[in-house]
Amino acid sequence: LRLDRSTRLRIAMLAPPWISVPPDGYGGIEAVVSLLSDELVRRGHIVTLFCAAGSHSGAMVRPLLDEPHPDRIGEALFEADHVSRAFAEIEASADAGRPFDIVHDHSGFTALAMADSISVPLVHTLHGEFDRHTGGFYACHGRNATLVALSAAQKATAPLGIDVAAVIPNPVAVSDWPFQARKDEYLLWIGRICADKGPERAIEAARRAGRPLVLAGPVQPGQEMFFDTDIAPHLDGRRVTYAGEVAGRAKTKLFASAWALLMPISWAEPFGMVMVEALACGTPAIAFAQGAAREIVVDGENGFLVEDEAEMAAAVERVRGLSPWTCRRSVASRYDVRRVAARYEALYRTVLAGTPAEGVAGIERHSPAPRAGFFPDARPHPAG
Ligand code: UDP
Repeated sequence: LRLDRSTRLRIAMLAPPWISVPPDGYGGIEAVVSLLSDELVRRGHIVTLFCAAGSHSGAMVRPLLDEPHPDRIGEALFEADHVSRAFAEIEASADAGRPFDIVHDHSGFTALAMADSISVPLVHTLHGEFDRHTGGFYACHGRNATLVALSAAQKATAPLGIDVAAVIPNPVAVSDWPFQARKDEYLLWIGRICADKGPERAIEAARRAGRPLVLAGPVQPGQEMFFDTDIAPHLDGRRVTYAGEVAGRAKTKLFASAWALLMPISWAEPFGMVMVEALACGTPAIAFAQGAAREIVVDGENGFLVEDEAEMAAAVERVRGLSPWTCRRSVASRYDVRRVAARYEALYRTVLAGTPAEGVAGIERHSPAPRAGFFPDARPHPAG
């Protein structure tokens, strides 16, 4: 029955406790969860979204804590509370004879660490990077779930012994982003203002290219000093401007009108929503050749991959030779939400097919995820 492609699935989507879904402004994971939930509902599934207060979705919305906590991101107090309430509801559903088939977790670390305490199999999307600490965490707890990486680059950094079952990129709803072929003069940098994301390097690249730069994004707690020291002195309201955190139409217009998006990341970012959002608008991306940027940006087609600020500046005029339609198509064909949701649905069904029926029905604990190589789509991303 579970292998039948027409079976509706009961899906518990677990968002983080920090920001409402969809985000009104900054919130990469919340944007992903929102798109995926809506599309899975459109595909006929029964989706319950466990999330922060103030959320809206085509799925059934179950806010867990009294309020979102955008300034407390990562704090155990809130994450543990949020996850334990979600798990209690998931188990209560099973006890009441209406079990979820699958839990899809985007919420951080607690749910994965505790996933062997619930009776429903859990798919965990890896939203962060593997480092000394998270590597140890996943080596210990990764077997509790089916792990999904966002890019081949991210999967390649998984320490030995950690099974990443599939590479499924983050989705973008291409039709929600306005296509614009005629671009303004300015370059755009958008994201969390922090050194990892390289806004100060974007300032240098734009200066060398002789073009104005618009910076946009929140200064999160702990990053005030970086902003004051490395960014604020360059803001002159003319060559370098700071738009603050942007949302809605102002944000999409900023993406669509920009000459190019600058992505001078100094870490192996596992995905990078702002690149696919820019490309959906027909705006090329010029990125440092790190992490998933090497998959999202196809050099010479939808942008350029560069090594430093000088190369980034030199690439700015070469953007003239790129087709905005090609940029948009490059994300529509790989990252559109319909495609991504179909891949997750296929993965859920594969997980369920490998799980004893009793486990699926919520009577027994589920067995550990099958080893890597089991899944038909456990292959590098086509662009990788
Ligand atoms: N974003 C936004 N307003 C801002 C800055 C960012 O809405 O002022 C959004 C941006 O459109 C993207 C998300 O926040 O959807 C950031 O996601 P990304 O994957 O690029 O970065 P990360 O999740 O690492 O912060």
